[in-house]
Amino acid sequence: MDIRTGLGYDIHRLKEGNHLLLGGVLVPSTVAIDAHSDGDIVLHALSQAIFSSLGLEDIGTYFPDNLQSTLNLDSKKILSLALEKMNEKGYQLGNVAVAVILQRPKIKDYKGLIKTSLSHLLSLDEDRIAVHANTKEGVGEVGEGKALEVLAEVLIKKD
Ligand SMILES: [Zn+2]
Repeated sequence: MDIRTGLGYDIHRLKEGNHLLLGGVLVPSTVAIDAHSDGDIVLHALSQAIFSSLGLEDIGTYFPDNLQSTLNLDSKKILSLALEKMNEKGYQLGNVAVAVILQRPKIKDYKGLIKTSLSHLLSLDEDRIAVHANTKEGVGEVGEGKALEVLAEVLIKKD
């Protein structure tokens, strides 16, 4: 069996707003993600982890953030391309781990919804998906609530 892992990371600034889009789920909030695309940072980090596992380039290579064509881009399209490339190479997902690092709002009550949403988007059982939330203990820009970060890790396999 051929097994690979991939690592993804993303950070976005936060601005005034009324919701966060995390893994396809709208989370009520007094801040929103500042982005050229729709700003779904979970899907960005996850897509990058899949590209990473395949030895491919980062998502900025496929979806430059300075083009009119990627303005307000539906991040599900980024994930679709990553999954397409994974399938083309004959791999399937083993498991997925996502850590959302933000000071506020607390997303504890939304982690389950995000997991279910990712399960649908990835066609992967929920027990192969982990969605964790961390604060930055008030330290740095993320701790001050000016930005949020997401780390993602995937394992892909081919028989
Ligand atoms: Zn992003």
